[in-house]
Amino acid sequence: MRHALARASLPATRPLAVLLAAAGLATPGRPVIAAAPGAQDADLARLQDEAVERTVEYLRIDTTNPPGNESRGMEFFARIFEAEGIAYDTASSAPGRGNIWARLEGGEQPTLILLHHMDVVPADPAYWDTDPMAAEVADGMIAGRGALDTKTLGIVHLQAFLGLHRSGAELDRDIVFMATADEEAGGFFGAGWLVENRPELFEDTGVLLNEGGDGIETDGEIGFGIEVTQKVPIWLGLTAHGTPGHGSTPPVESAVNRLIRGLHRLQTHRFEPRIVPAVEAFFEGLAPTVGEEWGPRFADIAEAVRDPDVLRELHIDHRSMAALTRNTCSITMLEGSAKINVVPPTAGAQIDCRMLPDQDPEAFVAELERVLNDPGIEIERIMQFTPAVSSTETPLYRTLVEVTSEEFPDAAIIPAVSTGFTDSHFFRDLGIDAYGYSPFVIPQEDEGGVHGNNERISVENVRRGTAIMLEILRRFAVPTM
Ligand SMILES: [Zn+2]
Repeated sequence: MRHALARASLPATRPLAVLLAAAGLATPGRPVIAAAPGAQDADLARLQDEAVERTVEYLRIDTTNPPGNESRGMEFFARIFEAEGIAYDTASSAPGRGNIWARLEGGEQPTLILLHHMDVVPADPAYWDTDPMAAEVADGMIAGRGALDTKTLGIVHLQAFLGLHRSGAELDRDIVFMATADEEAGGFFGAGWLVENRPELFEDTGVLLNEGGDGIETDGEIGFGIEVTQKVPIWLGLTAHGTPGHGSTPPVESAVNRLIRGLHRLQTHRFEPRIVPAVEAFFEGLAPTVGEEWGPRFADIAEAVRDPDVLRELHIDHRSMAALTRNTCSITMLEGSAKINVVPPTAGAQIDCRMLPDQDPEAFVAELERVLNDPGIEIERIMQFTPAVSSTETPLYRTLVEVTSEEFPDAAIIPAVSTGFTDSHFFRDLGIDAYGYSPFVIPQEDEGGVHGNNERISVENVRRGTAIMLEILRRFAVPTM
């Protein structure tokens, strides 16, 4: 994903520990790992050592998308499951586009899936201090494409999954490890393909953990976002029709003129602000962290955005937060004539619109038709997802908050809404509660490595993240005696 969430939600902020208590989220509980007896310590240390080795190994496998080659990652996991004696299955959506999953069987509770994507975006070595495919380890840091997005999360899922398997603990539900292709290009050869072609995999699934949230450290303060929903993309193509001809004799009504007029109406249209509950909770959670001017406005954002001046300021000061207050459209692609002296019969534009998580798409397109106000402009849907929000009132969400707050007592933990999208939407569409959660604390300055240069993660994050993820699984899926 683009990790819009992290940058959006936790800009140069100062999260407050009191937030947890204020939000009723803090739950006193067991210490995370400390109480484990000696044998378990040794098991955990082994899992952590393996996690570091495997993170390096996995980062060295080139799964740059395009073209993907995720089958290399699939084979990497297959070898591990074979060595562990864990049954697994694979499916390729196209040559080289592998997907893999393995299941620990448990009781009747709804299945939990640990999902991550194996592909990474391209990296240009010219802009890196190290070879992005070498996964060099230096000064306690592992640098490589995919370190934050999102191979390390996959390894932490794997090691926690193996930890449960090795412990022989009885589970009250199945736990599935799943690694997929193609997220960076929309997931249609990965998670989307599996939902379409292997629907039986998800029949008993109730909950899913995926990328999309993590801890960000700014000036020593930590804020954790747990992503519960996203803005919903609806990508549209506009085609205007008009009289063609020679550029020397302009027709009364040309396609390009129509398109420009329509786009101008769209560009100046003000989509009404509307604060949905997940967005309200997100703003409230961030209120203590955004300073004196914005704090009170964030605390009651529904009231604040009724003032058009505040909305404009929000757009300037907190652009990604502003995007969460209403539907948006970005005009991104334009096409007219291929020749300077030819008036073309058609002209086209593509627009990237993002709807609020509860928006009715039909009503949205009807609004756009009214705005364009020209029957000579056709609207075509290029891509559209279904809006859905995952509840914070679930045992898994509570477990995430509980374990994270025990490990990081001073961290703010906030249900977050992302302006971008991940594979989670495929599963929210099926009614599965999907959460964007990573047990890592990333310094604000390293966040730029996501899809950027010098992407890296600390060895400490790998080790600690393994322990946290294992504790989350234990607490969520191993019934207490
Ligand atoms: Zn990603």
